[in-house]
Amino acid sequence: MKQELYVNNSLTRKKEKFTPLNPPFVGMYVCGPTVYNDVHLGTLRSFMSFDIIFRYLTHIGYKVRYVRNITDVGHLVDDADEGEDKIAKRARLEQLEPMEIVQKYTNGFHDVVRKFNLIPPSIEPTATGHISEQIVMTEKIIENGYAYVANGSVYFDVKKYSEKFPYGALSGRNIDELQSGSRDLDGQDEKRNPLDFALWKKAQPEHIMRWPSPWGEGFPGWHIECSVMSSKYLGLQFDIHGGGMDLKFPHHECEIAQNCAAHLRNDPVKYWLHGNMLTLNGKKMSKSDGNFLLPEDLLSGEHELMDKSYSTHAIRFFFLQAHYGSTLDITMDGLQAAEKGLRRLQAAWKELPGLTTSSKTSVDMNAWKNECYAAMNDDFNCPMVIAQLFEGARMINACKEGSVSLTAEDVTGLKQCFSDFFFDILGLGLEGETGGKQQETVGGLMNMVLEMRMMARTKKDFETSDLIRDRLNELKIVVKDGKEGSSWEYLN
Ligand code: ZN
Repeated sequence: MKQELYVNNSLTRKKEKFTPLNPPFVGMYVCGPTVYNDVHLGTLRSFMSFDIIFRYLTHIGYKVRYVRNITDVGHLVDDADEGEDKIAKRARLEQLEPMEIVQKYTNGFHDVVRKFNLIPPSIEPTATGHISEQIVMTEKIIENGYAYVANGSVYFDVKKYSEKFPYGALSGRNIDELQSGSRDLDGQDEKRNPLDFALWKKAQPEHIMRWPSPWGEGFPGWHIECSVMSSKYLGLQFDIHGGGMDLKFPHHECEIAQNCAAHLRNDPVKYWLHGNMLTLNGKKMSKSDGNFLLPEDLLSGEHELMDKSYSTHAIRFFFLQAHYGSTLDITMDGLQAAEKGLRRLQAAWKELPGLTTSSKTSVDMNAWKNECYAAMNDDFNCPMVIAQLFEGARMINACKEGSVSLTAEDVTGLKQCFSDFFFDILGLGLEGETGGKQQETVGGLMNMVLEMRMMARTKKDFETSDLIRDRLNELKIVVKDGKEGSSWEYLN
């Protein structure tokens, strides 16, 4: 690999050189959505961060197997081992079958991530599709002595596990503190210790989502699915595990414990990466307080907290202006500034084909390109890449004004690097387009159309040149004729 990448490992709390277990292959697992409601903005931001990581690893030559699961059973309302299943509850409220809820919100999730130009994962497994494997892994953990059966449910024995393995290492919690902070068990409890968590839960008579198991009819606990699906598709040890900061404890801590207890090894994941939280106007997003927006609200601009609508590219650009490991606050000023900044980059990109080149250069294009890579190599630092793209835009504008000289080679290099980072790695695009390759095709076709129009004008065939202009207008594309040739943009 030409690029030396460094990542912030949540497990060691250090910035480490990224050395995959089996290069050029990279295994990456990201905890996916629980499909019982519309995708929240925080969730979208988190998946967008891993989309960038996936894109960059691929760009620098790794063959990434990216697994992002769908949680469609076992995630209970209180995020622990009590309460109703989130999906079953929603099914009751909407008077649908649980699997109709799963389908409805999985479709909705896919629509949103497609709109925001996220590349689909290589494998998107579901928890309900892996019930038998979850039973097998639970049996293995019982067999190894780290889980026990109680009244048709199976619980993980945290205390016993922590005698051999470092429970709490990822989240930086220690077992004694956890123990003293936990509630006391009452006589009714099936758990031996309040820190124990469910691997399998007995289904009450009213519970619709149920499967047969060696312990009776029931359903898997929330954490076991990720241990099963990550090890099934990526092996007992793999490179990257990602998710939102809120999943670090208990979800990821429990995942590690399950993997270690089942396979009796203590290193299931080499690099743990966590995306940080999103706030809205300086406060935690909360539906009940009214301080809450969905991706759709930003796109429509119709919510009372919104002053206008924003494009998917502008919203994506706004998210990328903060490092994935930092919190980000959504404000209307911030969104507007992002939209403005993005327009500057989009406008600069459109100027590139019309630049006049010289035989001498007054810039160091290679140094600029290296800065772009250096930014991404520093734990996928998107804000720094964006700063470099603005520097690229500055060069383009300065060349247009004549204050900077660029050779033909410079322009080719600038175009390639700008395209790699803007379209392919950051996943941005021009307005009216969904981005990526499609944008390149449209750009190429438009250049061809404008060239043909220019040829017609040179031949004084104004009938043809006007026809081209009018037809483009019908497609809401406006052609601008200037001294240095023609350019085009979308009519808003
Ligand atoms: Zn997970």
